[in-house]
Amino acid sequence: MLRHRCGTAAGPGGSGHPGRPGPFAGGGMKRISEALPWLEPHWRRLAQARARDRLPHALLFEGPPGMGKRALAHHLARALLCRRPSANGEGCGTCPDCRRLYGETHPDFLELAPEADRPAIRVDQVRDFCTRLGLSPSAAGGYRVALIHPAEAMNRSAANSLLKTLEEPMPGRVIVLVTEQPGALLPTIRSRCQRLRFLPPERAPVAAWLVREQGIPREVAETLLALTDGAPLAALALAEEARLAEREAVFTQWLGVAQGTANPFTVAAAWAEQGTGPLRWVLSWLEDLVRLAMAPQARIKNVDRRPILGEMARTLAPGALLELHGRWLEVLRLAGTGVNLQLLLEALLMDWAALRGKA
Ligand SMILES: [Zn+2]
Repeated sequence: MLRHRCGTAAGPGGSGHPGRPGPFAGGGMKRISEALPWLEPHWRRLAQARARDRLPHALLFEGPPGMGKRALAHHLARALLCRRPSANGEGCGTCPDCRRLYGETHPDFLELAPEADRPAIRVDQVRDFCTRLGLSPSAAGGYRVALIHPAEAMNRSAANSLLKTLEEPMPGRVIVLVTEQPGALLPTIRSRCQRLRFLPPERAPVAAWLVREQGIPREVAETLLALTDGAPLAALALAEEARLAEREAVFTQWLGVAQGTANPFTVAAAWAEQGTGPLRWVLSWLEDLVRLAMAPQARIKNVDRRPILGEMARTLAPGALLELHGRWLEVLRLAGTGVNLQLLLEALLMDWAALRGKA
């Protein structure tokens, strides 16, 4: 079976931190200059080739992990399938075709990858893939776009069965092969593709992007890039991991204050050192508590915390929670304006402990 997927492979998503969407998260779609600015030169080459009607039928995106190879392939797919592309050729993000790509249900986007728990792409998968690629696009005069990743997962017979499709291009079909190991591909595959190399970009602009678009402090951004050999999406993934670890720790402390097992002053001192991260997490839990206090079946953001938040919400009044939420929001607004964050956090945590004590 082929996997029809799109929109999930743009590197790590932004689900880890409230208010900080990842490159392709959310309903809208970011421009390449916002989502993957280090790939703008690659994008321009592709967009110009398309504008001149010279887009290669087979592309090989090669380079180390975390560079955005698959993300750019998805970006290209959206551009080709969108009904209302922008002036620079990017997908609009809102038309029915863009929305179907987000929903991973677009019939003209094919994705070929190893099946779950299997290392290789099998020959019968490739045959099925080639048959599907040959079907007419769902829109008249439209494209059918295919992504093969990791391309080196095709064994010799699988790769050989793809050769015919690469040798006899069909109009309106674009295949993007993605690999971290171009040397592991058959030379006959490599030679039939237009190769695009993804090398680690200059670090300063990427660090600036991590600060600007992802809200990561500059020193942290530089450390992340050093740890990931300058691969932007790998740095972002590492940041997401750190955020999730922070979320775990902050939740434990927040709960501890409520249960009287953690000292509000110690916790406030620790959180003040961490900037606004802990404040944002608590705000997201308070928002969910308000929702749950009003309706136990309400949709919430922190789905993994539903049992414990639901239990807490049963004993708390929505009005008191709303008031508390407003005060945490005010402190978030004040943070960074020279106020003593630790003092403000102490007051908030004392009130939180008192509110839970009354419950
Ligand atoms: Zn569109």
